[in-house]
Amino acid sequence: MTQNNADTNLPAAIHNRRDDLISLTQDLIRIPTLNPPGDCYREICEYLDQRLQKSGFATELIRAHGTPGDSDRYPRWNIVARHEGARSGDCVHFNSHTDVVEVGHGWTKDPFGGELAEGKIYGRGACDMKGGLAASIIAAETFVATHPDYAGAIEISGTADEESGGYGGVAYLAEQGYFDPARVQHVIIPEPLNKDRVCLGHRGGWWAEIETFGEIAHGSMPFLGDCAVRHMGAVLTEFENKLFPAMAARTTDMPVVPEGARSSTMNINSIHGGQPEPDADYTGLPAHCVPDSCRIVIDRRFLAEENVADVRSEVKALLEGLKSNRDRFDYDLREINVVLPSMTDRNAPIVQTVANEIEKVLGKPAEFVASPGTYDQKHIDRIGKLKNCIAYGPGILELAHKPDEYVGVNDMLDSAQIMAGALSKILKA
Ligand SMILES: [Zn+2]
Repeated sequence: MTQNNADTNLPAAIHNRRDDLISLTQDLIRIPTLNPPGDCYREICEYLDQRLQKSGFATELIRAHGTPGDSDRYPRWNIVARHEGARSGDCVHFNSHTDVVEVGHGWTKDPFGGELAEGKIYGRGACDMKGGLAASIIAAETFVATHPDYAGAIEISGTADEESGGYGGVAYLAEQGYFDPARVQHVIIPEPLNKDRVCLGHRGGWWAEIETFGEIAHGSMPFLGDCAVRHMGAVLTEFENKLFPAMAARTTDMPVVPEGARSSTMNINSIHGGQPEPDADYTGLPAHCVPDSCRIVIDRRFLAEENVADVRSEVKALLEGLKSNRDRFDYDLREINVVLPSMTDRNAPIVQTVANEIEKVLGKPAEFVASPGTYDQKHIDRIGKLKNCIAYGPGILELAHKPDEYVGVNDMLDSAQIMAGALSKILKA
């Protein structure tokens, strides 16, 4: 088979696998890999193991022992599959997370049914990101079948826990050397960023818990105690008056979508003060107490132009200000987690190659974007030290984590064609 024939044959060969792509996606959705708690990771790895071995991949199942959430009941299993070409060359790695978030309310379809209706496959994880995983498998299998003499290697990984930080998944594999630039040179993460967009990276995140303190007393004589909830009210007022306007005024050169995320943002995830919430079946009245503790969890997302030390000290300065100006104010600030921003250079080979294939297949220039939230690129960048990494996949970003999540079959086929085209370019078949 000549090179020209092979490349012309690729789109047709992908489209011939339409039924296989549909049933593969449905099979993946029907394995309920809910995280938390981290269910069925072994099951989905075994499924992928059988499938990829049949296509000539050498596979490894790797348990991330001792990582957050890993236990004998909920072991964190990952799979790495590798196909060697006929000659030496670069390795292209497709990384997909296998976990899905909770189902939530509002579904009209079976969240683990994988129903196909009007060209869409429904289910939790259809869009984020089992559709992307299926598309990358079809792309790799088709490429290997049509270009047996290619140079280099192709890897496909299915990894745990992306939805809870990726520590039992990509972070663990990166620590074990699986993303060493000597082993892997190009990474595509088929997260749902829309089939015509190349995602270069993501903003950073800083999560912390703030606690204000008070003194318990009888609720009829609050002046004998000190109300921790009112102290927290003062914290929130400082945030409203100073922090939120300051964050909104900051903008970034990162092409973040949606555009609202091109400023710094902060969510207050939770607030709790005073007595614990009563059980649902408790019918008594609350006791009368002045709360001596109030806690909030904040989720601060920051830009490539900011650094985490400033993010931290900005919040700390507001709290210290209250401490010196507000009577009896005291607080504790506990950092929960930090993720630094990651941005791949627009001229990196994987960016340019995939962008060219998008234009070829879809007939319009690729859009370059960055993600408001983080994904596993952070670990590939920081731990793996591998910079030539993008997210590119078929799902529609806005459907992720929503009820009646779906992935379009034609979108998967287009993406698979783009991925296979990129393999063809990089692996010099
Ligand atoms: Zn995802």
